[in-house]
Formats: sequence, structure tokens, C-alpha cells
Amino acid sequence: MTRERRDPRSSDRSRFETRAIHAGQNPDALYGAVTVPIYQTSTYAQLEVGVPKVWDYARGGNPTREAFQQALASLEGGTQGFAFASGLGAETTMLLALGPGDHVVLADDVYGGTYRLLAHVLSPWGLTFTATDLSDLDALSAAMTPATKLVWVETPSNPLLKIVDIAAVGAAAHEHGARMVVDNTFATPALQRPLALGADAVVHSVTKYIGGHSDLIGGAIVTSDEEWIDRLGFLVNAVGAVPGPMDSYLALRGLKTLAVRMQAHCAGARAVAAFLESHPAVTTVHFPGLDDHPGHEVAARQMGDFGGMVSFRVGSATKALEVARRTELFFLAESLGGVESLIEVPGPMTHASVAGSPLEVPDDLVRLSVGIEHPDDLIEDLDRALS
Ligand SMILES: *Cc1c(COP(=O)(O)O)cnc(C)c1O
Repeated sequence: MTRERRDPRSSDRSRFETRAIHAGQNPDALYGAVTVPIYQTSTYAQLEVGVPKVWDYARGGNPTREAFQQALASLEGGTQGFAFASGLGAETTMLLALGPGDHVVLADDVYGGTYRLLAHVLSPWGLTFTATDLSDLDALSAAMTPATKLVWVETPSNPLLKIVDIAAVGAAAHEHGARMVVDNTFATPALQRPLALGADAVVHSVTKYIGGHSDLIGGAIVTSDEEWIDRLGFLVNAVGAVPGPMDSYLALRGLKTLAVRMQAHCAGARAVAAFLESHPAVTTVHFPGLDDHPGHEVAARQMGDFGGMVSFRVGSATKALEVARRTELFFLAESLGGVESLIEVPGPMTHASVAGSPLEVPDDLVRLSVGIEHPDDLIEDLDRALS
């Protein structure tokens, strides 16, 4: 017997962990497969000329991608999810919803690729922008112009783990007639749900915690804004930065274990941050879970836990390079959010594209993505590398 296909929204009444497994993921109607199949197809047989069953061509839509979009939208508390081939594909499509002459205000320590996209691709196209410290609401008002259409927030930020008060910045943006987008890559919906705090859209690099296993590149947008749903639906097809069915499947699989993985990442990061704080070779630790972190209070208010990212300074660029070379469990690599721990030096690595810009980072900064290995093993590895 085939079960009635439930309205995907009916599962929205259940809790986060349950929705991660069930939203958009009914057993397949034909065989009852409990995992959503990988629909590896580029086109669909039509019922009649110009009458497709659902989609006419797979750039516009695919059942595996659709399941991932519905599940992520449910977890973020939005009405519509859009999946992309990369986080930057999602960002590009999001920003193309604006037009030449429009102005964007963004945090002064956003992801380097976001800055590069605005400075070197969309600025020449006519979009203008100002980078400023969004933890300072006066700086935000000063940066707004009559042309400001969007405020772009990233919190916790990369790599300094600065915290922006989402509700406060959203209120200021709206008062000005602008919208707010939050890059929720570092926190994930397991820890922070920006739409409920006033964001008009959330963007993700699915490559990181949502995928969670360092085996795909992907991106996403979730929004409940009707105008943006229409425009983004058009742009997805018109721009074409869409993910393949295999990556959509991996993203959906990652989503199922997001809540439990985030618990382990957070516990590990807390232990690692406490160890680093007590180590004589470390001069500063950036982790929003520490009481003396400037964003600690806001983070405690708007996040369920403090995340799996920690960065710290060691006094000189040479020492930073040395530590990153010497760890064994922490692989020396860019990216973050996978089950395995990673270490990197942002200055010459992830943030090389912002050297000389207002987003330049200290050269003795080391960034850790704390994986889900046993925290004691990670601490021993760091202790060896620092001594
Ligand atoms: C990695 C990252 C991006 C870009 O995503 P890709 O999947 O690499 O294109 C955007 N924002 C943040 C915060 C990121 O960490």
C-alpha cells in the first residue's frame, strides 16, 4: 500500500531534530525507499506539448534538490529554500536580486569571498557597498545612504568570531527601508535562526557544517519574503548556479545529523578554547563562548550554543605558520565545518583575497575548525604543536 503523500508543511509542527529527518522527505511513492533517491536526470518526459509533470528541465528543478530545499527551509523557519552549486553561487544570485545603483552595507569582517564578489565583480556592474563594524549601530547608521537596499550580516564572523546583534541590526535596516540578509554558515540553523530574529533571508555555504563531511561544495538561500521568492525563483533558472542531484543528496544527508554534530562541535570548541586560554604561548583567544568575549552576551541571547570555530593569536606570523605546520590531527587546510578538525593561518590562506583591504586580518592569527574527534586528543595535538 502506498501512503498518502503528506503535506510537507505538516511536519513543521515537530521539533528541529525530527524535521531534519522528515521535512520534504517522504518515502518514495513507487518503491517506498526511505531515503530520497538521487534523480540523476537533466530533463523530464512531458505529458503533452508544454505540459510537464512538475519541471520541464532540471536547471529549473530536481526532486532531490527539492527535498533538500524543503528540509532546510523547515529548519530555518522559512517558506522557501533555494539550493546552489556553492555558497558564492547563492550569494551571487542573492545580490543579483538588487540592481546597479543600489547600495549594500556589510560587516567589516565578512567572508573574504563575499568581499571579493562585491569589490571585484558586482561593483564594476554598478552595485556600491560600504564595509563597516556592524557591532556598532552608530557606524551602521552612518554607513546607510538613501540608496541602501541591503545590510549583509555574518555572525559569528570569520575568522575573528565577532558577534552581530541580528535583531538590532535588522530593526535598524528596516527602519531605513532596507532588508537584511544573514550569512548563517558558522552557526547553522541548529544554533541560530535569523529569520525569527528579523532577517529577510538567510544564506549558507552548505559546503561547511550542513554538508558536514568535507565532501561537497554547495550553497543555499532561505526566505519568506514573497517578492524575493519570486525574484530568486526566476534568477535560479536564469543564472543557473544550481547544484547537481548527487550534491543535493549529500547536502540532505548532512542535514539529518546536523543537530547531533553541532553538539559535538560546540563541546569540542569549548574545551579547546579553555585550553588555549590557559596556554602561555597564546596571547588572545577568539571564541564567543568565553565570558570576556565582547559579543558573549549577544551570542548567548541569539544562539543556542557558541559553535565549533575558535581562532587565536600567537604573537608573530612565524609562530602562527609553525603551529599550523606542526599539528597532526588538525589537518592544515582551508574550509571548515567537517567532522575532521582543520587548522589554518587566515592571513596567507583563506583571507589572502582581502590583504590590503579594510578586512585584512592579523598575521599571527590561527583559525581552528574543531571537528568531532575526542576533545582530549585535539588538545594534546595542539599542546604538542605549541610547545
Ligand atoms: C565558505 C564560505 C562562503 C562561501 O561558500 P562556498 O561554498 O565556498 O562558495 C560564504 N560564507 C561563509 C561564512 C563561508 O565560510
